[in-house]
Amino acid sequence: MLARKGKHRVAVEIQWSSETNEEVSRRQERYAESGVRCLWLFRYGGFPVSRELPAVRVRGNLDEGFVALIPTGSGKPSLPVQEFFDKVFNRQFHFGLPLGCKAIIEVQAGLFRCFSCLAKTRIVTAIVVDVGPCKYRFNMGDLVVDLELFKRIRGRIPDRLGIGSIKPRYRKAQKSYYLSNGCAKCGARLGDYEYNPGEDDETVCESPTGLRGDRWLHWSNWKTVYRFPIRIDKIWQNAIRQCEDYVETWGIYSMG
Ligand SMILES: [Zn+2]
Repeated sequence: MLARKGKHRVAVEIQWSSETNEEVSRRQERYAESGVRCLWLFRYGGFPVSRELPAVRVRGNLDEGFVALIPTGSGKPSLPVQEFFDKVFNRQFHFGLPLGCKAIIEVQAGLFRCFSCLAKTRIVTAIVVDVGPCKYRFNMGDLVVDLELFKRIRGRIPDRLGIGSIKPRYRKAQKSYYLSNGCAKCGARLGDYEYNPGEDDETVCESPTGLRGDRWLHWSNWKTVYRFPIRIDKIWQNAIRQCEDYVETWGIYSMG
């Protein structure tokens, strides 16, 4: 299929039989040489994933319809081919994390008994960035951030949530900053633990005895207490690219 709009030419190749990757690459190069951008729909997996080869896997049949197997966020692993084309032609299909795309920041927090004054205080346990097909979690204890990024996050968390001060602290050995929570009541520093991220977002964190030096923290019941929208700029992009689970691949992103 070849479409033309003004000086732009776009081809869509639909491969129903398995093709060798060499053959696909060769054809993609030929398209590029003649100034045509080509999108590939493959019935079989195993094709190369690269910026040079915009491609998705397709499943289905004429009776049931066809779906593109591409995560679109909100936990959906696929979308009807028709909708997929709409998104492609509305510039929402991107490789890697595109600048300017929309994302949601989730602030996860839980209750914690202060070692020092024994009051219950709320502490931030993680910041989650929900963007396009992925969610990236930054745990507070090991969040190594750019201070600019930290200030932005802190500035967006409303006072009414009862979260104490969050301060960047310098870790000499790694020559980097990390974030630690403070008690909302007395200001004691609470941040220096290992936060074990659970799969379950509905967790609490409360020290069972509330004693100073108690490391037996039960991190159950932490949950998302606040959400706010952002757009991915260079600072966010850089932070996300440093995440361990960051993978460059094709995905649907909301750009509008
Ligand atoms: Zn306290």
